[in-house]
Amino acid sequence: MKIEYGELILEAGERTIRPDIFAKVDGDAMPHLQARQCRDCGDISFPPFRYCLKCNGERETVVKVLSNEGALASYTIARQVMPGFNPDYILANVRMTDDPSLVLVAQLTDVKPEDVEIDMELTMIPKIIKTLMNGEKVVSYCFRPTDPARVSPGEGGQTE
Ligand SMILES: [Zn+2]
Repeated sequence: MKIEYGELILEAGERTIRPDIFAKVDGDAMPHLQARQCRDCGDISFPPFRYCLKCNGERETVVKVLSNEGALASYTIARQVMPGFNPDYILANVRMTDDPSLVLVAQLTDVKPEDVEIDMELTMIPKIIKTLMNGEKVVSYCFRPTDPARVSPGEGGQTE
């Protein structure tokens, strides 16, 4: 996986955890998460849904690119993990800046467990989170501290 001018480029043997979740934003060096938003009630869904689950509106939702910024709402350390994951990764609920009711479940990365703090600011970063039985690597959205002083490259449970 590499990132060029804000575009996520997969290499051979890699796939994203879901299709069409990363978007390029002009002028930003990092990819963003792509959600969808209801045209009736404004609810943002991620993973993205084509129809609103909140108001059951009949109109199709529209693409909504997220800011990539959020805050740590809660977390747990996964000691028992499924095959393909590294043990002791930090699984977090991240409250997105775009909408406080939008909470994403994602791994934290590049942070030591002792530096994790509720309400700390987080920034989305794509990472390989696991290797499938067939050797395929899965790229997903992770979060790391926005504050560079709290970033510890290589710490966390992600695969690479
Ligand atoms: Zn709605």
